[in-house]
Amino acid sequence: MKPAPFAYTRPTTLTRALETLAGEPDAKVLAGGQSLVPLLSMRLAAPAALVDINGIAGLDQIEVDDDGVRVGALARHAAVLAHPGARQAQPLLAMALHHVAHPTIRNRGTTVGSIVHADAAAEMPVVLRLLGGSVEAVSSTGTRTIEAADLFVGPLESSLRHDEIAVSAYFPRLGPGEGVAFDELARRHGDYAMCGVAALVRVQDGAVVSARAGYLSVNDTPVVVDLTASLAGGVDDASLTAAGEAALLELEPAEDIHATAAYRAQLVRVLTGRVLRAAYDHALGRA
Ligand code: FAD
Repeated sequence: MKPAPFAYTRPTTLTRALETLAGEPDAKVLAGGQSLVPLLSMRLAAPAALVDINGIAGLDQIEVDDDGVRVGALARHAAVLAHPGARQAQPLLAMALHHVAHPTIRNRGTTVGSIVHADAAAEMPVVLRLLGGSVEAVSSTGTRTIEAADLFVGPLESSLRHDEIAVSAYFPRLGPGEGVAFDELARRHGDYAMCGVAALVRVQDGAVVSARAGYLSVNDTPVVVDLTASLAGGVDDASLTAAGEAALLELEPAEDIHATAAYRAQLVRVLTGRVLRAAYDHALGRA
């Protein structure tokens, strides 16, 4: 199948791109095209116009400072994965990006595009949500910061307005005493996962003072669950099992062609324990 007809522009400035978006309510931003182009080809999306942002200079920056990592709208997954400063400042980025699709798709697809596409099966929205990151959105009327907690509003739906371009995503640096881990189960490496879990654990004097886990491919948006209470008395098989059960109380594992709800629930149990233990060990190792 071929896409429905659309107008195509490739502005070379952000200002021109924003003017075009403001003037055409049915326009879509085109970044890496790894999600949008298949949707066009299957006619699941039929925008009147595409605003290709790939000609705008400066949007591919990856900046690391004392507080975290800022990833520009045109930074490809592969560039973020390979960036030593980003990997060092926030190791969860590389841990999760390793599971995003295949190298050819990571060479073209953008991390910011993945976030604003807001697929509950994608890795980077969960990572941003778990870390408490944000997206900087620009329109012809101004700039705003959207906290990750306010960004993912429904299946494939973000709170970004149609006239806005997400120019960057911001991931806080891993703090003292913190450890992270990521794991998922997919039928083949690089496929969308049937369930994935990211964890952020903070320890003080060997005890867990904060434990949170983010889930992909479970609910229809990325969900973060606070599991501190389960691990506050210690990290062992019993408390990790309890954490998995506590997580399920907050989740709604869905059935689809890839997995039954019961199988997904079992993946939540197993991956929650595995990832929390790995994040705890990571935190202890950094202490
Ligand atoms: P595009 O496809 O260009 O755009 C996607 C959507 O976001 C569009 O609605 C577009 O208008 C909007 N958009 C993009 N950038 C901006 C911006 N800066 N401002 C405003 N709106 C914007 N992803 C995973 O996370 N995990 C996987 O396992 C995975 N597997 C894949 C397997 C295959 C075979 C393919 C084709 C893709 C897979 N992907 C996977 C998707 C891939 O990560 C995409 O790159 C990503 O989801 C979207 O990024 P993009 O730059 O390609 O965005």
